[in-house]
Amino acid sequence: MSEFPWDITVIGGGLAGCEATWQLASRGYRVRLVEMRPLVQTPAHATANLAEVVCSNSFGGEGGAAGILKAELEMGGSLILECAHASRVPAGGALAVDRGRFSELVSVRVESHPNVELAREEATELPDGRAVIATGPLTSPALAGSLQARLGQCLFFFDAVAPIVTQESIDPEKTYAGGRYGHDTDYLNCPMNKEEYLAFHATLVSAERVMSHGFEEAYFESCMPVEVLAARGVDTLRFGPMRPVGLPDPRTGREPYAAVQLRRDNREGTLYNLVGFQTGLKWGEQARILRMIPGLENAEVARFGVTHRNIYVNAPVVLDGFLRLKESPHLFLAGQITGVEGYMESTAMGLAAGIYAAMTLSGSPLPPWPRETAIGSLLNYLRSAETDSGKTFQPMNANLGVFPPLSRKIKDKKQKARETHARAVMATQGFFREMGGQGLALG
Ligand SMILES: Cc1cc2nc3c(=O)[nH]c(=O)nc-3n(C[C@H](O)[C@H](O)[C@H](O)COP(=O)(O)OP(=O)(O)OC[C@H]3O[C@@H](n4cnc5c(N)ncnc54)[C@H](O)[C@@H]3O)c2cc1C
Repeated sequence: MSEFPWDITVIGGGLAGCEATWQLASRGYRVRLVEMRPLVQTPAHATANLAEVVCSNSFGGEGGAAGILKAELEMGGSLILECAHASRVPAGGALAVDRGRFSELVSVRVESHPNVELAREEATELPDGRAVIATGPLTSPALAGSLQARLGQCLFFFDAVAPIVTQESIDPEKTYAGGRYGHDTDYLNCPMNKEEYLAFHATLVSAERVMSHGFEEAYFESCMPVEVLAARGVDTLRFGPMRPVGLPDPRTGREPYAAVQLRRDNREGTLYNLVGFQTGLKWGEQARILRMIPGLENAEVARFGVTHRNIYVNAPVVLDGFLRLKESPHLFLAGQITGVEGYMESTAMGLAAGIYAAMTLSGSPLPPWPRETAIGSLLNYLRSAETDSGKTFQPMNANLGVFPPLSRKIKDKKQKARETHARAVMATQGFFREMGGQGLALG
């Protein structure tokens, strides 16, 4: 029996916090869930409901990596997914929800659970006892300050991130490998002649941007969206992120007029990000403009660029493989603050943190999540993403590029997704089976 009437505190009643609470409470642990709304609001939330979705009402499609993640969440008995299905609205192949009904349902389920005590208050400091921190990208400044002081290093605040494309969709005939002045080989270069550059620039400056949310602060100079730089002058990009100096094309021996550099984004080399191409353009515009870059005509976008204020930790440096702070292993992190991006991804990090926290409370050893699964692949990304010495770690969503390659190469995308899905389901079943009593209601 703990000295408190509860076994663990969960801070933040968003998607991840509610999922973590559910996983803990349904295993018999008494949870104190701390949510600051409506006493203190974030710049994006508008209600007092738990699990309020702040922007789109879509939880993504049923195919590809998003579908795999949902299948795993379902096998894990996810409350968030269950309530999403119960409040579903028609949206083609996507799982979209009636946002009011969805968050009311989650609120009722969580608040009426006999093992949950809901406290409406702002946590201003990290707790001393066992806790799951799930305060999201809009964590209140006081708690963010406490977390930053504990970690001894900055949390990331980003206003814009660059798109990521899959390696297999890059045209090898039109690109060439090599870093500036031949320093390394981790880059691919997309060369442009003058005509291509001018057309690209003209399209970029006239492309539609996502409307400002009103609460966004000024961009950091080092994180300036590419369309904002382009608007400063026709040559600004050629002297900035598209600088061709030191990048001679081996086929001509000459430097191109301009070049877009692509940098490996994961260990396996299945994903590449566009260096210096952070953007706040609408996603359709991004897709259109990316395809104007030589070598990216058929680019498959694994993650679009986004701009909004966000707080997340430098996961590869500060988290262990079980979402615990290395500095303070009694504290788990969950949700978007861990460095994942997206509603379902945040939920998944709530599910994993809740399960690992429950296992810790029961004294069980923590098994690594299988790498073949979407959840295991996201956890692997958080643990081991390439970070340029920890400086540029950026959030990731579920996409086929984060999974380990299949044992045989498959060209057909749908077939590849199906096999990756089947492998993930098998691995998840095995994982929960081995957990025995700690596992979930798999039937
Ligand atoms: C403006 C914006 C738009 C987004 N749009 C989308 C989108 O369209 N699609 C998508 O997939 N993802 C989107 N995301 C990203 C992400 O998926 C969501 O932010 C998601 O809700 C993250 O889940 P979470 O549980 O980590 O955080 P949240 O759902 O934000 O939950 C965190 C909770 O913690 C509470 N809290 C914060 N600080 C404290 C404190 N000190 N004490 C107590 N409680 C606290 C908050 O009130 C909140 O309820 C968006 C993010 C932002 C910021």
